[in-house]
Amino acid sequence: MNVRIGNGYDIHKLVSGRPLILGGVKIEHELGLLGHSDADALTHAIMDAMLGALSLGDIGHYFPPTDPQWKGADSIELLTQVNQLILDQGWHISNLDSVVVAERPKIKPHINAMRDRLSKALQLSPQQVGVKATTNEKMGPVGREEGIAAYAVTLLVKDPQS
Ligand code: MG
Repeated sequence: MNVRIGNGYDIHKLVSGRPLILGGVKIEHELGLLGHSDADALTHAIMDAMLGALSLGDIGHYFPPTDPQWKGADSIELLTQVNQLILDQGWHISNLDSVVVAERPKIKPHINAMRDRLSKALQLSPQQVGVKATTNEKMGPVGREEGIAAYAVTLLVKDPQS
């Protein structure tokens, strides 16, 4: 088989005193996401989808939250490392698609900036990077604005020469 599919999911808690960063884009909001790194749930879900496609485990394995090296890490930097891992194995991304689930703030105005940032980090065109947003219709922890979740899928294609 020369194609592989992967999926990823992540959720981080919303707290005061933290920046809100999604898809590598800082969004003005009174709350931000809590985590060891910059807690960019969208970028984390995308990394897990990429790793999952090649059965390479998850980001916790490569960037453990117990390792002080990754404290406050820029998730876009981690994304470029995961992409390099995929490229080194002779694979590349055909496309990825993702969904951010957030009650507030409005994500839609930031989607194109996220697609630009993510596609540049992944050496893709923005047309290969789907980012969508929805609310949780006020239900559950995301609906109560306790956190923001993200889902991603990606299709990897084997390089012709490898
Ligand atoms: Mg995470």
